[in-house]
Amino acid sequence: MPYRITLIPGDGIGPELAAATRRVLDATGVGFDWLVVDAGADVMDRYGTPLPDHVLDAIRDTRVALKGPITTPVGEGFRSVNVTLRQALNLYANVRPARSMRGLDTRYENVDLVIVRENTEDLYAGIEHMVGRNAAESIKIITREASERIARYAFDYAVRNGRRTVTAVHKANIMKLSDGLFLESCRTVAAEYEGRVGFEDRIVDNMCMQLVQKPELYDVLVLPNLYGDIVSDLAAGLVGGLGVAPGANIGTEAAVFEPVHGSAPKYAGQNKANPTALILSGVLMLRHLGEVAVAERVEDAVRAVIAEGAHVTYDMGGTAGTSDFADAVLGRLEASPVLPA
Ligand code: NAD
Repeated sequence: MPYRITLIPGDGIGPELAAATRRVLDATGVGFDWLVVDAGADVMDRYGTPLPDHVLDAIRDTRVALKGPITTPVGEGFRSVNVTLRQALNLYANVRPARSMRGLDTRYENVDLVIVRENTEDLYAGIEHMVGRNAAESIKIITREASERIARYAFDYAVRNGRRTVTAVHKANIMKLSDGLFLESCRTVAAEYEGRVGFEDRIVDNMCMQLVQKPELYDVLVLPNLYGDIVSDLAAGLVGGLGVAPGANIGTEAAVFEPVHGSAPKYAGQNKANPTALILSGVLMLRHLGEVAVAERVEDAVRAVIAEGAHVTYDMGGTAGTSDFADAVLGRLEASPVLPA
């Protein structure tokens, strides 16, 4: 039976990256039955909303989705489709690995971080209002339930993947109640894993400095929503930029796999953007589906093409287009096929 997967190509560079990724995944021999649905500004006129109900229903039905980036208007217009999707489907854990790759010109060689970001609350709860005409208030929501849940996810992830330490990142010295509760929740959960996974905490500003000075010292980081968003871009920068940073949004009922990067509108339709982040999001999806050997094969193929450097996109120092990179990955896969699980 093929895996039924909802595919949301997204907008900007999304559709061309989705086409490249789909070609690579279809070539693995794992059967996929793609249910393609659109979301974002382009469907506003037709449905009156950027996230029509049938898109959410499709993901609830297939339980797994692969998603390209979707543009969010700044300051006005509709609320982020990405944030709404994560909240509507209760995709509470945003997991973003950042691992060094041979062939990429970066300042560091041995980065192997996993950012585990709480995905449903914090300042992203979207509760904000004007106070008179000249002041605005955004409410930061942190609950014990969501904080313990994300901490438990981070520790379970560490156990499942043989990782050594979870670092909780916070600003509890200033936000003593909200971030204080997040830290306290992490400590409570850490106690359950004592002897199996190490635990430490860092204040977010210090964490940023430590990450640019000695990222190799850190392993799994667990953060509230806003810091997780920012630090995961920072982590992407340590290993070669947004073009190579994959992500997963995991909930109990569904999982949505998408790159860290956005829709990069200035490169849309130019066959120029790097599809690595979306292909590697597909690798995370394969692992989630239990197709571990195939996932490793695709990841190895991507890494080999990048290490070789002859068919890489502009952001990796090359001149290849999106589709040329995908062709090179396909060539590697064809040279070493693996049977699906
Ligand atoms: P962005 O990630 O789209 O682009 C920033 C820059 O990073 C680009 O100009 C480009 O230089 C580079 N870049 C990003 N992806 C790349 C790729 N695959 N290949 C090569 N270079 C790449 O960030 P932005 O400009 O802040 O956001 C643009 C839009 O995307 C906004 O509307 C934002 O809200 C949205 N966004 C969506 C998501 C999502 O769908 N999950 C995530 C982040 C941003």
